[in-house]
Amino acid sequence: MSAVQFTPAARVQRIRESPSSAAANRVRELKAEGRPIVDFTVGEPDFDTPQHVKDAAVAAIATGETKYTPVNGTPALREAIRTRMERTSGIRYHDSEITVGGGGKQILYLTFTATLDPGDEVIIPAPYWVSYPDMVLANDGVPVIAPTMADNGYKLTPDALRQAITPKTRWLVINAPGNPTGAVYTAEEIRGLADVLAEFPQVWVLTDEIYDEILFTGIGFTGFAEAVPELRDRVFTVNGVSKAYAMTGWRLGYGVGPAPLVAAINKLQSQSSSCPSSISQAAAAAALTGDQSFVTESVQAYRERRDRAVELLTQVDGLRPVVPDGAFYLFLDCAGLIGKRTPAGTSLDTDQDVTLYFLNEAGVAVIQGSAYGSEPFFRISFATSVAEIERGAAAIANAVSRLS
Ligand code: PMP
Repeated sequence: MSAVQFTPAARVQRIRESPSSAAANRVRELKAEGRPIVDFTVGEPDFDTPQHVKDAAVAAIATGETKYTPVNGTPALREAIRTRMERTSGIRYHDSEITVGGGGKQILYLTFTATLDPGDEVIIPAPYWVSYPDMVLANDGVPVIAPTMADNGYKLTPDALRQAITPKTRWLVINAPGNPTGAVYTAEEIRGLADVLAEFPQVWVLTDEIYDEILFTGIGFTGFAEAVPELRDRVFTVNGVSKAYAMTGWRLGYGVGPAPLVAAINKLQSQSSSCPSSISQAAAAAALTGDQSFVTESVQAYRERRDRAVELLTQVDGLRPVVPDGAFYLFLDCAGLIGKRTPAGTSLDTDQDVTLYFLNEAGVAVIQGSAYGSEPFFRISFATSVAEIERGAAAIANAVSRLS
């Protein structure tokens, strides 16, 4: 075979494969080799999509809803998004302020494509969801990482925000409940950030609220746009049906916010995807407007799993779990394991070493904190059964007890 001459574009060379996809692939390989692995890497609900949502998709197929839809979605989906946003945030979005896409991820990506020129900066508080910096890089922007502290619950403070802003800043990314820490900002904390933003009108806020239904505190969720209506003309809110309705494979997300930005994203959609799947749109409309008991029940299950994971892993010497207020991840400080030696005599120098040790010695797959911009930590997803959590936690405890 002749060697293929292929050089990807600079934008592809600047980015890496998503570490969570890479970890998931590694788990699949090991499982295929017959190794029993407790998989704590997956960032998706283990539940099946609710039946009434599936029924809506089947009905869409049966009745011929199988054609291109408007770029900004079917009228039914737009109405469902409008009603949903009004119910949760009190804000009523006009059609020109709603865009839909193949997952919240695609909307986030296109937001950067639509707005960044070379050198434009995007402030990303760390720990962050793995994809933000690479999305910015792929779109010619510069990610500016703003570290957060345990003392502030891993939330950006007004001072840290002010320090990160330059004349080139276009966006501040906020993700709450956050992946990987589960941090949730109070309305007061959001207003503190907004006070700083009031001085910098060129900085817009991209608020990723994809986990807003998955909350453990009982305090409820305040979205960024809801907390600071005076900034509404520069806050873009991204959400979707993947997490709340166990619909990751349906690929349907949406964004709501300033009409000129939505028009720019829609223009890109018109030349790239045309529209998301008509069938997924029908399913998403049913999810957003139909019976919400699935959400309540799954959040109850996540809460039990969170409590069990925190209880078991707090008992492991050298680990300090960050108790999440939302989403379905547990981020653990593993500074106490750094410098220890494995039974084979190798030293655990980084959280990547810890992660590899857990995979090879305990058969437990987790993701290293460095993937999220914070070291030394690791993330487990507790979107899995309590039995699996107990098995994985016991294997981690055992592996840690063998370190010296
Ligand atoms: N934002 C965050 C913080 C996420 O964790 C994810 C999923 N891993 C997404 C966005 C994307 O979700 P989707 O594209 O499935 O809507």
